[in-house]
Amino acid sequence: MKTRTIAKLHSFRVPQRGGSAQHSEYGRTRKGVAFCSSCGNVYHHKEWHRRSSRVLAQAKRNGQAITKTLCPACSLVGKRMFEGELVLRNLPAAIEEEVLRLVRGFGARALRRDSQHRIIAIEHLKGVWRITTTENQLAIRLAKKIRDTFKRATLAISHSREPFEVGRVNMVFS
Ligand SMILES: [Zn+2]
Repeated sequence: MKTRTIAKLHSFRVPQRGGSAQHSEYGRTRKGVAFCSSCGNVYHHKEWHRRSSRVLAQAKRNGQAITKTLCPACSLVGKRMFEGELVLRNLPAAIEEEVLRLVRGFGARALRRDSQHRIIAIEHLKGVWRITTTENQLAIRLAKKIRDTFKRATLAISHSREPFEVGRVNMVFS
């Protein structure tokens, strides 16, 4: 239950730099309707939801103001930032394809459950795979899923608080 609570809070967290919280008005307090100009997600009932022309049409009919903005997830991506990072080292070539399929499937399911939970990038650099996510618990859950599925990797999980909380997971395959 604790994990879920953290994930929930973090789905609305927005990086704050130099004390400016430019998007935090769309955190948990703002009333009204907004839509993300990048992914089309819609903010209403104090949460971000998948794009919905029905909600926007309804708001228009009710005379509510509709604000154009960037949702927290797109805002992170635009700033080349992330909240979760998973690094896979020594991933054996024999299971590489299977692991990547698991990663993509996990990302797709996470997004279906919460429009703000996304895999930002899957990169391969110098023999190391790096997966970044918009939410820190997502990277940790993904790492545990890979570990439990393939049973041949060790995990090291760390959190950093600066400039905002990032969950980093290092996975080493043996
Ligand atoms: Zn968006």
